[in-house]
Parts: sequence; C-alpha cells; structure tokens
Amino acid sequence: MHSNNILDHFRFSGALLEGHFILSSGLHSANYLQCALALQLPTDANRFGQAIAEKLASIIDTDSINTIASPAIGGLVIGYAVAAALDKRFIWTERQNGEMTVRRGFAVRPSERIAVVEDVITTGSSTRECIAALESSGAKVVAAASIVDRSNGAADVGVPRVSLVTLDVPSFAPESCPMCARGEEAIKPGSRTVASR
Ligand SMILES: [Zn+2]
Repeated sequence: MHSNNILDHFRFSGALLEGHFILSSGLHSANYLQCALALQLPTDANRFGQAIAEKLASIIDTDSINTIASPAIGGLVIGYAVAAALDKRFIWTERQNGEMTVRRGFAVRPSERIAVVEDVITTGSSTRECIAALESSGAKVVAAASIVDRSNGAADVGVPRVSLVTLDVPSFAPESCPMCARGEEAIKPGSRTVASR
C-alpha cells in the first residue's frame, strides 16, 4: 500500500483531521489522528493488516514468529488483522492500575517469539510497555509495527520496527501555538463538534 493511499483513506474516514486541535497531552496540533475510524470496516482493517504483515516480512522471518501481541485498546483491531494475515495467535496486554500487564489467562511461553503491533506510534511508550510486559513473562519480542509513525522515525522501542506511513506532526504548548497566535479556535477532538462531521 502506498502511503498516499493510506493517508487518503485516513482523511476520507475522518481518522486524520486537519485544523487546530487540543491533544490529550494538552498540546495543540494542526492534525489529529483517530485510527479507529480508519479501521471500522473489516475489509479496510484486513488491507492494513496484510500490508503490515508484508512490511514485517521485510525485516524478520515471519515464519519464526509464534504470536502477534498488541497494547489494548488502540492496537486490538490492527493487531488482530496482522495476526489473521500471518495466521498467528493474537493476544494483548492492558493496563491494570496504570501498569501494562498480560491478563485474561493469556499464557506466554518462555522464548515464545512475538511481534508487537500498534495503531499509532507517537513516543513508542505503549509499545515499549507492551514489550516489557511480554518479556517479563519470558517471551522474546523480535519486532514491532504500526500503521502510523507519528515520531517521524525517531521513536525507539528497542526492537526493529516498521510502519506503513510516517508523519511529522508538530505540536505546540498553547502559549507558543502559531494557530492560537492567529486567533484560531482550538477544538478538543472527540467532542460532539468533531464527531458529527
Ligand atoms: Zn493552539
């Protein structure tokens, strides 16, 4: 999949908004990503899953992977789609009292080889936490992947990683935000205003 096609699909599905947004971090940005909107149709999720499976195959021997794992909730749909494309087991990690853990009775075998799949990598922290939770159970995480890399390639998750599209999306403290300086109103994504568009 060409990255332009991916971005077109993101815009078309409302997953990539352009304007003036207040991120959950409190920073302001001219773009907002809500990957879940791009994955509503299984055929779309499957296309992205297949594309990530092919990208993973360019950096590791995917036959040697036992399992795909994702950090909940953002990684669940795309992680499942990648696992389906590669015909692998799919499990996830989730936060309990703020700490990323392997729950729900998922058993991770010692030296089980796992690739971690996320929807968006921004700083890489949720992928790193997912990897740490799996490796504390004895697994060997061999690669990571995401649909979007918002870090413009900078995020280091400690294992080789791939993404389908790379974005360099600057964010600003409100006091140094150029859009605020132009007097443009900032919108909190997920509010009724944006959701009804
Ligand atoms: Zn602003």
